[in-house]
Amino acid sequence: MRIDEVHTHTPFELSDGWSSDPSLRHVVGRLVLLNTPARVHQILDSLAAFAKTCAQTSRPLAALCDRPGAEPRLVQYNEWGQRVDRVETSEGWRGLKDFMTVHGLVGEGYGAEGQEAWLGKPDSLGGREQLGAVARLFSFARNFLFAPDSKVTPCPFSMTDGAVRTLELYGTAEQKGKYLPKLLSRDPTTSWQSGQWMTEVIGGSDVGMTETRATPLVETGRQAKAGDLYTIHGFKWFSSAIDGHASLALARTSSDTSLGSKGLSLFLIPVRKQDRPPIPATASYTDETAATSPFNGIKVHRLKNKLGTRHVPTAELELCGAIGELIGQEGRGVAQIASVLNITRIYSATGCVAAIARSLEVASSYAQVRAVGVQGRPTLLKDIPMHADRLARVGVCYRALLQLYFPTTLLLGKAETGTATPRDLRRLRMLTPVCKAFVAFRTTECIAQCIEAMGGQGYMAENPLPEALRDTLVERIWEGTPSILSLDVARIMVQTKGLALNEWLQDCAAVVDASTGALVAVDRGKVEKIGRQLDKVYAAIKRAYIDGAALATGDGRYARSLLELIAIVTSGVGLVEQAAWSASPSTVAVERGDAGLELETAVRWICGTDGGLDRTLSELDALMDGAKLASFDSQLAFPSRL
Ligand SMILES: Cc1cc2nc3c(=O)[nH]c(=O)nc-3n(C[C@H](O)[C@H](O)[C@H](O)COP(=O)(O)OP(=O)(O)OC[C@H]3O[C@@H](n4cnc5c(N)ncnc54)[C@H](O)[C@@H]3O)c2cc1C
Repeated sequence: MRIDEVHTHTPFELSDGWSSDPSLRHVVGRLVLLNTPARVHQILDSLAAFAKTCAQTSRPLAALCDRPGAEPRLVQYNEWGQRVDRVETSEGWRGLKDFMTVHGLVGEGYGAEGQEAWLGKPDSLGGREQLGAVARLFSFARNFLFAPDSKVTPCPFSMTDGAVRTLELYGTAEQKGKYLPKLLSRDPTTSWQSGQWMTEVIGGSDVGMTETRATPLVETGRQAKAGDLYTIHGFKWFSSAIDGHASLALARTSSDTSLGSKGLSLFLIPVRKQDRPPIPATASYTDETAATSPFNGIKVHRLKNKLGTRHVPTAELELCGAIGELIGQEGRGVAQIASVLNITRIYSATGCVAAIARSLEVASSYAQVRAVGVQGRPTLLKDIPMHADRLARVGVCYRALLQLYFPTTLLLGKAETGTATPRDLRRLRMLTPVCKAFVAFRTTECIAQCIEAMGGQGYMAENPLPEALRDTLVERIWEGTPSILSLDVARIMVQTKGLALNEWLQDCAAVVDASTGALVAVDRGKVEKIGRQLDKVYAAIKRAYIDGAALATGDGRYARSLLELIAIVTSGVGLVEQAAWSASPSTVAVERGDAGLELETAVRWICGTDGGLDRTLSELDALMDGAKLASFDSQLAFPSRL
């Protein structure tokens, strides 16, 4: 008997990511209403329409990528034995990139520069010029809706976005005029995408060890200035978006190795020969690539064989005479590339939270049609309390992560439009690594739970969950692992002398206080329970990180606990605020959630096991009491290597 001859369950269709997701609509609705009330309906209507466009247009393009042979491949030699280094990608991948370009998935976060022609067109709400700080939230909400059907095309576009921001901040007028119109263009025939080439074999987590060298193309005898041309030599170990047009890369401009990361500068390298700036006649320059290679002094040695993100061409590159333009000042490369990372990290969180949304939708749709035996009777999964309980945990986590992620996009928008206070800027600096790291590791747990909830069918490659799990696993690695990002958070605490932490504690307490009035009418007992738990957490944070100066010990395990505490509390406080908003009277017709359900979500996250606060606190206690000895960790982690 074949599968089509037995009884199978009714197939279900996925709807679009906006109409199927009330919690997404509610958090976006609240933040937009509070920050740009006059545009709220226009923004929400536009998101609803864009979600439908994604379902109708990008989903079929993504399906093209699932055809056999659609993964990228590198053709190094032509039939004459000449080196050509051609990267071939599929029709689906190229179509998805064009979709992102045409719909301005980067451009909507920006203003007029380079995209005057697009402002006011039907698919544009006008970027920063019209929406101010909310332009970023709006732009990320669109990326969120697109991400589950994107095949990770946002990877090159996130780096493009980072390149735009870097040029805005550090580019010369000439560089802005030359590159921004290309990077922001919505015309696929003229638009450029940019990569970011930092990771080298010697160190990905610590780019300060970069070995790639840049030497001035022409000896001028004067101080280097932005826009100067350099010849670049080195080896970049992981380089995604090699099918793009340019890349920002770090290279060492000083032979004084004692300078460490201060000897590194930032360059814009056009990927192809045809796009590189003219080489002055006075330059003695050798391009070590073959005449038949299209690349600007770049050899593509191989494409990486990866667990996930398999449609993204990620290469090992040799820079052998690549011509690059200096961006900003010599020696400021690491500080400047941080503006790329601040953006790519938020894209990383976008892809993750959106992947949970899709996984939850698939698993919950399956529960409506899959019947299993309960005491001999066929019962739909949705009617089994134990099953609902497992998926409800994913639902709680998803709602909490929305409250961490979207406010961070809003802070980014404020920073970029000059409307952020110094306090906002410190909070953004702290929340960007927190959000990226925490979202990444919670996402893979959530997707695995959704796969489990679908039984054997969940494990099948033709449903989207296994691919989502593989793709989102990389978010725990690229743009900084959770450990590296925890160390970054610790650095902020040290740099601000604890101010960022103190302000955050005050802000969290103030939000909960302000929410109490509306929420006691919903359920006083739950509000008091949340208050008691948060007081306990604040006291533990003060004991360890303010009075106890745990970060000064240099033991990174404290940093990791702190990152988790900041993430769980920030998202929990966001849930409380959301519930209070839903419980408050309003004259504006914006859809709100059920305050009772939202308060219950907050209680489960903050006081129950879903958020994991008590577990993190007990780990912190064990560190503080000296009970968690590093020597035991070593024996447990490396049993056969000691
Ligand atoms: C699919 C994919 C695509 C990528 N694309 C790009 C790209 O386009 N451009 C680019 O520049 N890079 C890219 N990367 C590289 C990525 O950014 C690095 O892999 C990442 O930063 C980690 O660096 P690493 O691999 O050298 O790991 P390592 O630095 O060797 O880290 C190994 C482990 O050690 C831990 N660790 C390292 N240092 C410390 C420390 N001081 N304290 C405690 N723990 C520590 C890390 O957390 C990690 O768990 C890509 C990676 C992947 C997987």
